[in-house]
Amino acid sequence: MPATRITLERDPSVARAIAADPSGACETDLASAPWTFDDVPGYGPGSSSSDPFPVLSPAQGEIPAEYRDAGDDELHGRIRAARETLGERVVVLGHFYQRDEIVQHADYVGDSFQLARAATEHPNAEAIVFCGVHFMAETADLLSGAGQNVILPNLGAGCSMADMASIDEVEECWEQLEDVLGPLDEPDEDGLVPVVPVTYMNSSAAIKGFVGRHGGIVCTSSNARTVLEWAFARGRRVLFFPDQHLGRNTAKAMGVPLEQMPMWNPRRPLGGSAPADLQGSRVILWHGFCSVHRRFTVEQIAQARSEHPGVRVIVHPECPMAVVDAADESGSTDVIRRAIEGATEPTTFAIGTEINLVQRLAAQHPQHTIFCLDPVVCPCSTMYRIHPAYLAWVLEELVAGRTVNRITVSPDVAGPARVALDRMLAATP
Ligand code: SF4
Repeated sequence: MPATRITLERDPSVARAIAADPSGACETDLASAPWTFDDVPGYGPGSSSSDPFPVLSPAQGEIPAEYRDAGDDELHGRIRAARETLGERVVVLGHFYQRDEIVQHADYVGDSFQLARAATEHPNAEAIVFCGVHFMAETADLLSGAGQNVILPNLGAGCSMADMASIDEVEECWEQLEDVLGPLDEPDEDGLVPVVPVTYMNSSAAIKGFVGRHGGIVCTSSNARTVLEWAFARGRRVLFFPDQHLGRNTAKAMGVPLEQMPMWNPRRPLGGSAPADLQGSRVILWHGFCSVHRRFTVEQIAQARSEHPGVRVIVHPECPMAVVDAADESGSTDVIRRAIEGATEPTTFAIGTEINLVQRLAAQHPQHTIFCLDPVVCPCSTMYRIHPAYLAWVLEELVAGRTVNRITVSPDVAGPARVALDRMLAATP
């Protein structure tokens, strides 16, 4: 599914909606400039106080005052002018969860993999400005041409889920599993290896490289089932990271019993599981989650059903299992988008995913009633760090002949990471 070219010219409502949240579940400072949050310890604007801090995200230095002090109209004008000067030399990509102030300047909007592939359609663009989070920019660098620079406007835009599986933790896990399961790269008499590592796209390039080196594969929320089938054809069991919920929801739908899905908590010996549980497992789930999607609850679904009889509830598979079970449907951002586009009659949809996407879908489909399951849901607070000031800064630097905030993957990691991505592309039906 190609990423979508967009023509959004709409004022954002997300910041105001969250700022009006009376519950206190989210911080109410979304309308503030994100750079103030880069200077102090904290997760970012709009975050819940219980969010884990993305420790692996690089720090973003302070950008010049002319950007920090500029008003909205000036910033948007400067972005448009820089884009006009740069023309085809630059491609701007905006993730589905990105705020509308940024999305309105994007050439494409889509999920992380759609956007990385969209960039490959512009081999002559010398710069790819990725308005998403760090692992997405890394993936774009893996797939882009040799002469292309991938730029992340704010280096502090990390992903707390991706950070929940560091390369050191995964290497340590692999060693411990070897103690319990024997040599992990050696096939048995049926030609199956003890473990096939599978990583969600939402992981660092180092993790993708690890997976590529050990016969494993990458998956997205769209193809997780196909990828697990690929892995089960090659191994006795799967080590799935970083998102436990996507792994559990997908494996459960394939008929894997919950008791054959032990958790691996990297802070505990053997991940906190008994050797017998690991030996009897089919899927070992890494103890990771998305701080946005884990907020959705069964109670919210019950409330939506009582307030909106006939409501169609669709949630993202990064939501907890009980929420996916209670929903009418679950699927990736693209599945959600297509379900709404495919509804021929006016329909009420309750959606369990990031609020920027839900509000955009609601604006694009006024014939339907579309709302977020969680009335006080927080946005992806790290993605929110990409404020128009950062976009104006990186674009004007390009106009001046300078490349700032370039994201690169080292060749020793990029080679095996591309192998893992290529396996996924070959496994996709
Ligand atoms: S929505 Fe969740 S998984 Fe996606 S980038 Fe944000 S924190 Fe990461």
